[in-house]
Amino acid sequence: MRISKTLPVLFILLVLMTVMAGCSSNQPTMESDNDKVQVFVSILPQAYFAEKVGGEHVQVSVLIPPGADPHTYEPTPQQMKDLARADLYLKVGTIEFEELWMNRLTGVNPEMLVIDTSQSIALIDNDPHIWLSPDLAKLQAHSIYQALSEVDAANKSDYQRNLQAFQAEMDQLDQDIKEELKDIKHRELLVFHPAWRYFCADYDLKEIAIEKEGKEPTAQEMAQIISDAKQKGIRAVIASPQHSTHEAEAIAHDLGGEVITVDPLARDYASNLRQVARELAAVLSKD
Ligand SMILES: [Zn+2]
Repeated sequence: MRISKTLPVLFILLVLMTVMAGCSSNQPTMESDNDKVQVFVSILPQAYFAEKVGGEHVQVSVLIPPGADPHTYEPTPQQMKDLARADLYLKVGTIEFEELWMNRLTGVNPEMLVIDTSQSIALIDNDPHIWLSPDLAKLQAHSIYQALSEVDAANKSDYQRNLQAFQAEMDQLDQDIKEELKDIKHRELLVFHPAWRYFCADYDLKEIAIEKEGKEPTAQEMAQIISDAKQKGIRAVIASPQHSTHEAEAIAHDLGGEVITVDPLARDYASNLRQVARELAAVLSKD
């Protein structure tokens, strides 16, 4: 008796619930932040890569904030706390910060998967600045795809599709940079902080480092660098916003050249590299 009365009510409730579930699945923000794969990266350009490959399924946090130097950075206590909820840590590979801190980072969260995104890349002299080559960025993205597919296998096909789109984007970026630099007359650059070796290797440029192993040159070394640069007719001095441009200005003045301030750590990766190529072309095309 009681069952026969409650059944129609239950039926209506069920129908209502189904309709409501149907409605909410049409809304774009189905995955709340808590459902997303929590990804930590060391530097800002990696956030660009991880967000492109991870798409809507990931939430990416960057350890080294804008303006900070990855060669000397130390994580804050709050960041150590935040890392306890990470699913995945994507290392660049060999930057000092990662080498010094990784044991402590994994200590607060032993479950976290740690991936070295330089794993399939042949480093030159252990130089960590691999992300500045769009070609190598494709390999880093492939490592990111593999890592995401491991921690979140259910969305593997999405990650694969995103990876392919990212690789096509990098191919286009690579072509655009080549096009931008095709008529330049000078191929050597003085670079204050030597972050651009892989970029230079891709575009037939040569980076001559002023800073040696993170240290500023002595007055004597500096005099030698400037006299060599004068002989070679070098005009472009590359400085980065993370480091003082004061000395770069003085050197450029000595050479009758120009300082180009470019950011190796910009989050908006592709448009930053297009900007770098434009500024390089403007200086390197002059006689
Ligand atoms: Zn660096």
